[in-house]
Amino acid sequence: MTEITKGVYFIAGQDEAIPDSHVYILGDPASRDLSIVDAGLVGKGESKLQSLNGLGVEREDIKRVIMTHTHLDHIGCLREIKALMPWVEVWIHRDEAEPLEQGDERTVYGMDMFRSLCESQYGLRPGDFRLQVDRKLEDGETLEIGGMSWEVVHVPGHSCGSIALYNPDGKILIPGDVVYADYAIGRFDLHRADGAALKDSLKRLAELEVEVLLPGHNRIVKGLPQGYISDTLRQWESYLN
Ligand SMILES: [Zn+2]
Ligand SMILES: [Zn+2]
Repeated sequence: MTEITKGVYFIAGQDEAIPDSHVYILGDPASRDLSIVDAGLVGKGESKLQSLNGLGVEREDIKRVIMTHTHLDHIGCLREIKALMPWVEVWIHRDEAEPLEQGDERTVYGMDMFRSLCESQYGLRPGDFRLQVDRKLEDGETLEIGGMSWEVVHVPGHSCGSIALYNPDGKILIPGDVVYADYAIGRFDLHRADGAALKDSLKRLAELEVEVLLPGHNRIVKGLPQGYISDTLRQWESYLN
């Protein structure tokens, strides 16, 4: 686990045949009010939590898991984390929280073929991701957590309830799988994905002043060039409709 800046820590995903999302830890350790952003792939729960030891983080200080979205590579080990730390709350955007509470896991797997593959590979069963969501996030909220402010920006397109978290003080953006380094964007062919919505979401993110980009996969970028998200959008715009 590495410190990106004060109050923002990074545990790199360990991809297998299926990718494993990065995990970010948010909050000043002195606040004893820390948040995990995204959990990771099935089977990774214990190793993700072990990575916290490097920072000297007490598990008791982790208060919640905030999901950028609920694809399997992000939510896969949430249940393992909940089993190890039963007190943590789960915060998810309303549009993905409500289906999950009702046992609708189509967003988790994205497509039926992938679902059958994962069920056989990981022994997953229908209902494994049904859970009670403690807080349903909405666009425009500001989360005052761990001595920091994070704005919730609803950025549908890659999935219907994707959110980005934005910290204006540090100009830090955690966009989930909406935009990555190297002018890449999230796929938009899975359950309830929407290319036109993704275009609008990228437009919204392009309005933010971002210096540190912390995506769900691949490289993280400090010193992001000005206009990076607009430039990315320009490269993809003709595909997004
Ligand atoms: Zn995703
Ligand atoms: Zn992902």
